[in-house]
Amino acid sequence: MERSKNKKILLSLILSIPFVFGGFITNDSMTPSFKMTKIVLDAGHGGKDPGNLGSRSKEKDINLAVTLLVGKYIKENLPDVEVIYTRDDDSFPTLKERPMIANNNKAHLFVSIHSNSAANKSAFGTETFVMGTKHFDANFDIVKRENSVILLEDNYEENYEGFDPKSPESYMMFNLMSKVHFENSVTLADHVETQFKDRVGRKSRGVKQGPFYVLWTPSMPSVLVELGFLSNSTEEQFLMSQQGKEYMASAIYRSIRDYKESIEKN
Ligand SMILES: [Zn+2]
Repeated sequence: MERSKNKKILLSLILSIPFVFGGFITNDSMTPSFKMTKIVLDAGHGGKDPGNLGSRSKEKDINLAVTLLVGKYIKENLPDVEVIYTRDDDSFPTLKERPMIANNNKAHLFVSIHSNSAANKSAFGTETFVMGTKHFDANFDIVKRENSVILLEDNYEENYEGFDPKSPESYMMFNLMSKVHFENSVTLADHVETQFKDRVGRKSRGVKQGPFYVLWTPSMPSVLVELGFLSNSTEEQFLMSQQGKEYMASAIYRSIRDYKESIEKN
């Protein structure tokens, strides 16, 4: 009992190291010459993990199609930005590998794209998450669902050092994040939700906080976008349509463009 407690404390300390140091890292965006030139786009789920299931669609397919379109628009319109995908096909990168791809490439931005689901079939709208634990209880269901992908991975017990996505206690260690990265994440998330609402006419459920594993380890501003609810038949139909995908992808592209502009001006 005592041993496992000590182990847990030690684990929290080890896991919080990137955040402690993250706080001391100078913010690239504060230097006048900073250019946002490298972005990692992460299509949620894939391969043996379908994500949320609509009545006719799988989350992993919608996420991938929209993500590839976002990358295409960035390449066409922002030629100085390098786009890196965590997956560009129906493969299954683990939750740990996704942010690691961003860290190893020293990316300036990490955008994870998902589609939502709820027991209440009338729920609809977009939401964009940044790393954080505000309103933890209200958002725990969706956080748990997204993080539970870990359970599909081989050797998850060793790879995630005892982190249990279903236990609220496991999330105690998620608290620390560098302030600048947090603020920049919120700036981008605001742009995304504004674009969805004002330009595509979607219902925005707002910018929220959640301790998503995939947002926890990237050492750069990061957001997780929920495009809409596959459990809502109207929204599912919209997201399944080519036009719907193009609208959502162009909104995300424009928000990244606006974020880049604002951060390079500072
Ligand atoms: Zn998802």
